[in-house]
Amino acid sequence: MNCGSELRVTFVDLGMSPMCESYVPAEKLNHMEPFYPLHVYVCERCFLVQLQEYVSPEDIFTEYAYFSSYADSWVEHMRRYADMIVQRLALTRDSLVVEVASNDGYLLQHFVRNGIPVLGIEPAANVAKVALERGIPTLVKFFGEATARELVAQGKQADLICGANVLAQVPKLGDFVNGLEILLKPGGVITIEFPHLLRLMAETQFDTIYHEHFYYFSLISAEAVFSSHGLKIFDVETLPTHGGSLRVYACRAGDSAKNVSENVQQLRREEEAAGLHRIESYANFAEQVKETKRKLLEFLIDAKRSGKTIAGYGAPGKGNTLLNYCGIRTDFLDFTVDRNPYKQGKFLPGTHIPIYAPEKISEVKPDYVLILPWNFREEIMQQMAHIREWGGKFVVPIPEVIVYP
Ligand SMILES: [Zn+2]
Repeated sequence: MNCGSELRVTFVDLGMSPMCESYVPAEKLNHMEPFYPLHVYVCERCFLVQLQEYVSPEDIFTEYAYFSSYADSWVEHMRRYADMIVQRLALTRDSLVVEVASNDGYLLQHFVRNGIPVLGIEPAANVAKVALERGIPTLVKFFGEATARELVAQGKQADLICGANVLAQVPKLGDFVNGLEILLKPGGVITIEFPHLLRLMAETQFDTIYHEHFYYFSLISAEAVFSSHGLKIFDVETLPTHGGSLRVYACRAGDSAKNVSENVQQLRREEEAAGLHRIESYANFAEQVKETKRKLLEFLIDAKRSGKTIAGYGAPGKGNTLLNYCGIRTDFLDFTVDRNPYKQGKFLPGTHIPIYAPEKISEVKPDYVLILPWNFREEIMQQMAHIREWGGKFVVPIPEVIVYP
């Protein structure tokens, strides 16, 4: 809910799905598992694509496990961001950088290295502890209006507030964006990164929809949200991360020193050309999703009929949406593997596909390896290049089945 309009138009209904981070340990395989609707709506007034709140935020965030094993390319992406933004905003020892959902401090460490004061805000205590041990000041709290006011009362306002992949996951969007506006120093800048709805739609990335992601933003809907809370998006960049993301730059609505850039106007035109400002344009997506499912099942059925073995690579949240929606269990996918030791030995939620360490692939030598985190396909195909020794092939399921020779 953003603008308060009643949600009546379905964007896509992916049926019932378990929480994507609820990996099942062996001793619970015979227990009941909660499934919740994955029914996404689009608001007729502000065009914000969103899930209704089916699961309470407490249930999500208590289940949410922390993994320090970020993909290498993501760590590098954030390092480059830090270098760029320090220069662009001419940040100094007198500045303050605040990151919302600062995790283990993997981004803020780059500012600290440059002698720039930082503050991380991170609700998960176990994760914040890692940041603190690294010498990164971190406040263990949910971010919103109340936290912002507390900081302002202590004389803290930020020259830069940054957040990557947090906006989609805040249960109270209005409260969060208000908090940004309050904490921002006059003349300061906010940068927020989120997966781009335009790419999600163009490439049928329906597997990026899960209960932990309440919102799916276009520039148009992000502008609506920001402007209703006193903020102005004055610049935007498109990024390759997570299948195509946006990084928006925002300032106070009244900050006349910052003009809205040509990038913003051009991207807005691009979104309008795709019809994102008209409710009818959202109607096709559900059919695209069904067709993607049929194509993937077609491939898997053919492969199985010709006696091939198929293993998965990765146990990401998006894999769970895909497998549950398509009804893919061990009838198609013998097992999957993941580098994260926390997931190894457990089973995927709902589908109960077992998760092993990556070495299992060399042992079993499957004919196909289905890459579930397709946004890291390049990295994974490099790491697992040895499957070619026995003629193994990589398969990517989205936007349509691609088999790499
Ligand atoms: Zn709305």
